Amino acid sequence: MIYLDNNATTKVLPEVRDAMVKYLTDEYGNPSSKYYQLAINAKKSIDDARRNVSKLFSCDADEVIFTSGSTESNNMIFKGLADLTNKRHIIISNIEHPSIMETAKFLEKHGYRITYIEVNSCGVVDPSKIESAIDDDTFLVSTMWVNNELGSINDISTMAAICKNKGVYYHVDATQAVGKIDVALPNGVTSASFSAHKIYGPKGVGALILKKDCDGIPIKLTPLIHGGEQEFGYRAGTQGVHNIIGLSKACEIVLRDFLINVKKIREKEDIVYDLLKNKLGDQIVFNSPMTNKVAGVLNFQIKGVKNVIFLNKISEFIAASSGSACSITHPSYTLKAIGLTDSEIENSIRFSLSPYEDITELEDIL
Ligand code: PMP
Repeated sequence: MIYLDNNATTKVLPEVRDAMVKYLTDEYGNPSSKYYQLAINAKKSIDDARRNVSKLFSCDADEVIFTSGSTESNNMIFKGLADLTNKRHIIISNIEHPSIMETAKFLEKHGYRITYIEVNSCGVVDPSKIESAIDDDTFLVSTMWVNNELGSINDISTMAAICKNKGVYYHVDATQAVGKIDVALPNGVTSASFSAHKIYGPKGVGALILKKDCDGIPIKLTPLIHGGEQEFGYRAGTQGVHNIIGLSKACEIVLRDFLINVKKIREKEDIVYDLLKNKLGDQIVFNSPMTNKVAGVLNFQIKGVKNVIFLNKISEFIAASSGSACSITHPSYTLKAIGLTDSEIENSIRFSLSPYEDITELEDIL
C-alpha cells in the first residue's frame, strides 16, 4: 500500500520510536518531582527537548510550551488572549483549519467580532487586506503558514511586520509548514502552533511557541487547562515525557535532513504530477497552485469522477483523501473559497507525499 495522506498524519520514524522507548520503560520519572534521579532525568530530558524544538523555530527554549498538538495550541492562544483583553476584534483567513475557524466562531458567540479575510484563487492571503482590516479594537490576527489542503504558502513575514507595526498579536498555524519550509519565525510573529504527528513524530503532542514581548517579558495568557505549574504555568498537567522526547527527535530530524528531504519530496511530486497527467490527460485539473506552494501536496480534480468513488476504488493500494481529515463530513470550504463549484469539489482529491515513501509502484496502480 502506498501512503499518500501525509498531511493527515505521518508514520513514526524508527529513530523517533527508539528515542521514546526509554521513557516508556526505565525513565518513568515525573519531571515535576524533585530530589531523586528519575525525576531529575525527566526534567532534564524535557529541558533538552525544549531547546531542540526552539532551534527549529529560532526562538528561546522558554518560549516553547508543550501541548497535545496544534488544535490545543490554537485554542489556547485564541481563548487565552481573548480572556485578558478589553478588545473584541480578531482577524483570520477564510480557509483556516477547523481548530482556528471553530475557535473563532466560539468566541464570536461570546461577543467577539471576527473578520474572515478572503484568500485569492491560490489560497493565499493578501497582506494588504489584513492591514486594512485591523482597527483600534483588533487584538489578534491569525493565519496559517501553509494550507493543509492545497499546500499554498502565505507571506508570513509581511503580515508579521504589519501586525508588529499595528501592535496586534500575530498567531501563525505552522502545522503544515514544519519540515517543508524554513520555519525560523520572522520578527512580528507572536505565537505559532504545530503537531509532532505531521513530522514523523507521535500523535497527541505538539507545542505553542509563545514569543516574549519586545522587552523580553513573557506574554500573559490565561491557561486553557488549569491546575499545576507545568509549562511555566501556561499548561497544567504532568507532561507526557515520552511524547515530548518523540517530538524533540522529530524536530531534530527535520533540521538535520531538511534539504535532502525537500529535494526528495519535490522529485516525488514531479513523478506523481507527470503520472497523473499522462494517465488522465485532459480529465485532470490541478487545484493546488503550481508556484508559491510547498512540495509534496497535490490537490486535483478528475473530471466526471466522484472522489468518494475513486478513493474507495484505490483504497486497497493507495491511502489518500479528499482533503482535511478534521472535516470529512462537509464539502471543503477551502476549495469553495478558491472558487470551485460543488461538483468540482466532489471530484477533488489530495495526494500528500512523504520523502520516506516508496512510490515506484504507483505507475502500475493508477
Ligand atoms: N492546523 C492545520 C493546518 C492542520 O493541518 C491540522 C491537522 N490536520 C491542525 C491544525 C490540527 O492538528 P492536530 O489534529 O494535530 O491538533
